Amino acid sequence: MTAGPGISHDRYRQRLEGVSDRLGQKSEVLLVGVGPDLRWLTGYAAMPLERLTMLLLRADERPVLVVPRLERAAAAAAPAVAAEHVEVVTWEETEDPIALVAQTLGSLGDRRPLVSDLLPATFVLGLQQAGVLRSGEFGLASRILAPLRSVKDPEEVALLREAALAADRVIEAICDGPLVGRKERDVAQEIRARLVNEGHDEASFSIVGSGPNSASPHHDASERFIGAGEPVVFDIGGTLGGYVSDITRTIWVAGTGANGPDPQFEEIYQLVRDAQERAVEAVAPGIACERLDETARGIIAAGGYGEQFIHRTGHGIGLEGHEDPYIVAGNQEALPVGAAFSVEPGIYLEGRYGVRIEDIVVCTPGGPDLLNQAPRELLVVGGV
Ligand code: ZN
Ligand code: ZN
Ligand code: ZN
Repeated sequence: MTAGPGISHDRYRQRLEGVSDRLGQKSEVLLVGVGPDLRWLTGYAAMPLERLTMLLLRADERPVLVVPRLERAAAAAAPAVAAEHVEVVTWEETEDPIALVAQTLGSLGDRRPLVSDLLPATFVLGLQQAGVLRSGEFGLASRILAPLRSVKDPEEVALLREAALAADRVIEAICDGPLVGRKERDVAQEIRARLVNEGHDEASFSIVGSGPNSASPHHDASERFIGAGEPVVFDIGGTLGGYVSDITRTIWVAGTGANGPDPQFEEIYQLVRDAQERAVEAVAPGIACERLDETARGIIAAGGYGEQFIHRTGHGIGLEGHEDPYIVAGNQEALPVGAAFSVEPGIYLEGRYGVRIEDIVVCTPGGPDLLNQAPRELLVVGGV
């Protein structure tokens, strides 16, 4: 963790208690393996291993964290564990951790087990064989955790904002620097290094799509040389204090000659810009997620490019790069105060070029709180 904002152990206690209350109401038990759910509940960013680590949550009982003996010190350093909101039980290298989980849980009676969505199949099958999970009678922990995790508390918003502003600085530095004649891959490497220099724990992705590559939304950086007189899409992000940044900007690289954007590029850029801005402005508590998608899509369709907007408008963001809520047609879920998500419409003309603009937004009682601040007007740079 950096010296910046963080999550207090009291916040973890509140989260554990909140989950425990719901488990009591619904007569359920939570089995959480390594991953974002465990980190959200305890602050423990456990190493994903073949060895079992599992948090057991039951109503009215102290949470128990089952960890391999050799991970005990790492687990004990997690805020919720250090503050003793969680009890640690360890297993030795030669013991059977599944048996330990079964023994710790005891009889579940009519309580229904819910497992974390990313729990490896090998543990799910082991728990089935041990009788902890009975076919057809267990479910996914996201039923309880997803709605809770999609409402960010102030500390989480502070981390997301710090991550977003760090990514903004990287975008601005890259746009100011040389681009013409460089390989996409080389620019992507610079972006990754800058993300870390600006405070990220690590860089997670660095899309650099130049010229026709800009028309492929998830194009990875390639060996292509960036030329003068073409656009570049940058879609970059990493994690800061565990929280993900994700920003996209599309710029035009002109070089030294008269290689400015052509009228069609300016047209699609303006449409994406309007769609993105209007969808952000529409953010309000209680609005159906799909309405935000409709807002962006309506503008692009009215401009004649509906068929070229080939993905959803956005995704939730937090400890995971893509999580609830999804800003997509069919999602009638009401946007809660505290939801953090991307708004990222795009237009892609295959073989030619594409445009995408993406910001992270938090829904507040008064409307949108835009975390990214990097300029959204079409930037034409020399790039030399
Ligand atoms: Zn994406
Ligand atoms: Zn992105
Ligand atoms: Zn995104």
